[in-house]
Amino acid sequence: MLLINYMNERKINLVSSSPRRKELLSKIIPTFTVSPHKISEDMLKNEDGLSYVKRIVSKKANQQNVKADEILISADTIILFNNTIIGKPTSYEDAKRILSLLSNNKHEVITGVCIKDHQKEYVFSVKTQVFFNSMSEDLIEEYLDKEIYADKAGGYGIQQDDFNFIKYIKGSYTNVMGLPMKELIDHLENLYQLHVSSDEIESLELDYPKKYKKNEEKRNQPYKYSFQIDQDKCITCDWCMKEKPHDDCILMFNELKLDEENNIISSKKTERFREAKHIWINSDDCTRCGICMQVCPVNAISRTRN
Ligand code: SF4
Ligand code: SF4
Repeated sequence: MLLINYMNERKINLVSSSPRRKELLSKIIPTFTVSPHKISEDMLKNEDGLSYVKRIVSKKANQQNVKADEILISADTIILFNNTIIGKPTSYEDAKRILSLLSNNKHEVITGVCIKDHQKEYVFSVKTQVFFNSMSEDLIEEYLDKEIYADKAGGYGIQQDDFNFIKYIKGSYTNVMGLPMKELIDHLENLYQLHVSSDEIESLELDYPKKYKKNEEKRNQPYKYSFQIDQDKCITCDWCMKEKPHDDCILMFNELKLDEENNIISSKKTERFREAKHIWINSDDCTRCGICMQVCPVNAISRTRN
């Protein structure tokens, strides 16, 4: 468990009734209180998703007085589908309608977080893209019959073993669960001058179920193109690593020696981004989706016809 020692001197109060948020926060803060909120979550006229979650988390945090030794953390999660906000389903039929909309489509999950003490209030939000497989009416009903959809934005929980319809996600997994852990720790570090082990922060996000990063359907097909990273141009930012849809399509090395045809002569692999000196595309696992090329900020990734 990651212990934020400084936080032990302040009383942390999680303003949320979500068991997922409680579980996530307990990974970094061993002792805290939980206060359910009692606010209206109605939307304002013409309010967009981002403004909505930020207003709601601030409202949750401001429903009670903050003591001098206390820090409040509140959060709210919504789904955006075609720029329309989708909250928690109001009934079985509503959950069925929502999941039918999300089936075989992409949506965004936005979590707003408010950190508040007796002197300051800080609000931020994190967005994750989620891609669903196709769900037949029968499969949706089978899932809904388990009656585990009610208190969840969009009617599903990414962490549920019973929910197997996610093709892959782009962005933070814990954000979809309801509390973006890496960003929360980053902001707590900045606001309260904490020092948190970088390896442990990374592991919070990277330990999520690997099944959501896989998209096996295109493997082993003949490809017209191959992708390469120009090692001289690469600035070892983590953009392509964050966005890659497969665990092993882009690898990280401490040491990497290539021959004239770009084949590896010798290498030393690492799982820790902060140690990586080289980023490498693994042709055996690459499905030529092109995502890495789109996100690289320095055009270090090129595509060539085979
Ligand atoms: S093209 Fe797609 S599958 Fe291939 S390395 Fe880039 S992100 Fe991974
Ligand atoms: S996004 Fe581009 S610069 Fe960043 S690690 Fe990947 S290849 Fe290198």
